[in-house]
Amino acid sequence: MLALLAGLAVGLHKRHKVSYIALIALAAVFIDLDHFLVILGYGTNYRSMHNVFVAILTPAMLFFISWYYERGTGKDTFRTFFLLLTIMLAGHLIADMVGAPGVKLFYPYSEKTYFLPDYVLALPNGWEIIGRDGVYMTIYVVIIFIGALIHDALYYQEHKNMSGKDAIKKTLRDYF
Ligand SMILES: [Zn+2]
Repeated sequence: MLALLAGLAVGLHKRHKVSYIALIALAAVFIDLDHFLVILGYGTNYRSMHNVFVAILTPAMLFFISWYYERGTGKDTFRTFFLLLTIMLAGHLIADMVGAPGVKLFYPYSEKTYFLPDYVLALPNGWEIIGRDGVYMTIYVVIIFIGALIHDALYYQEHKNMSGKDAIKKTLRDYF
């Protein structure tokens, strides 16, 4: 849900249907099926698919492969799908890292658990300025924003025959 909102916030809906973004946000939840692996008797780590290999490197690699093969074809179906999936999975990992029990980021190579402290920005007298949700929502939105930037810049580069630099400039002009 957070992924869907953030996706909409940076204007991905301009070129993609809301239902499409919702579908990818839903696809990014698939790593939560790892809970069932434990129930079925495979291992003891309840978050065995919550690591950089499954949630970041795999979709990012699929993005680069799609980009390589779709270059110059005028199509961007797979490239867009895997880029958005990478972004939303990264957001998922971050969201799950807030507070206990944390995430074994480099499982199965390391059992070390990583988690983000419940950070709160407050005045000396204890008044909260930004609560922990606000802090991590901000990090999350920044990640989505970078992804949207890559997405739109690639679009301009391919469809408007712009150089990489011009495409990034045009994208930034769109946003601000
Ligand atoms: Zn999860």
